[in-house]
Amino acid sequence: MKFHILGSSAGKTVPRPFCRCRVCEVARNEGGRDVRTRCAVHLYLDGDEDCEPRYALDLSPDVSFHFIRNGFALDRLEHLIFSHADADHIEPNLLEIRRTILSDRSALPHLNIYGSETVGDKIAALDLDRINASWHLAEPFVPFEAGELNITPLLGNHGPGIVLNHIVQHGGKTVLLAWDTGYWTEDSWERAADFTFDAVISECTTFGPGDADHEARHMNFSTLVDKKERLTEMGCITDSTPWTTLHIGDNGGLTYNEQVNLGGKHGVTPGYDGMWFAPPE
Ligand SMILES: [Zn+2]
Ligand SMILES: [Zn+2]
Repeated sequence: MKFHILGSSAGKTVPRPFCRCRVCEVARNEGGRDVRTRCAVHLYLDGDEDCEPRYALDLSPDVSFHFIRNGFALDRLEHLIFSHADADHIEPNLLEIRRTILSDRSALPHLNIYGSETVGDKIAALDLDRINASWHLAEPFVPFEAGELNITPLLGNHGPGIVLNHIVQHGGKTVLLAWDTGYWTEDSWERAADFTFDAVISECTTFGPGDADHEARHMNFSTLVDKKERLTEMGCITDSTPWTTLHIGDNGGLTYNEQVNLGGKHGVTPGYDGMWFAPPE
């Protein structure tokens, strides 16, 4: 499994509209890894040689930017797995385009869409037959298959609505995807104990200094470190398990390079738009 992080920002892009904070200004003036768009991740399995993904996790309104920049058409997409229904993770109008494309519509593979009840509500207005798609309800703690993937959803501590953190398994590897999660409640900790993770992608919405907050609906860096330490104590990960982050806002007050310095002290690699990430061989 190989993950291509296309969108690494939290609900607001970096730079954020109207904002003149230092982090946004560095992103505006210097570009590069300080510029972040909203959540979209593509997943490639071994043997997927071409550059069109068959699997995607979330589909933010900004993803068109990456289609244009990378030359993606998304016309090989078969499985679209959502974390939750917040606007920075799902843009139903993008799916609607499948109905009106000018190239051969019958050449598009059938699209399977997976998500919680609240995602189902969000896409309820789409005519799934006309966009050649089908809907699969995913429920917390109930494993399901998405193509060649086995997925066990945990419950993110993030409302409103049901937010899923997905444990994705394929080819002997297990990767935890935990964004828009906060610090888990006990039911998710208990279920996580059944797994050993080869790699983790988590949110770190407020990537910067500050005290841990186990009640907040997003993680800051100290909360992330607490979560990482607890998973280590539980034997789910080791100190050398690769851990990267997305869903990073200007909230933490740090530039990308400053995040690298802070993260490095705790074995955390800040993610960025365009980053490739894979569990070790
Ligand atoms: Zn979000
Ligand atoms: Zn800002």
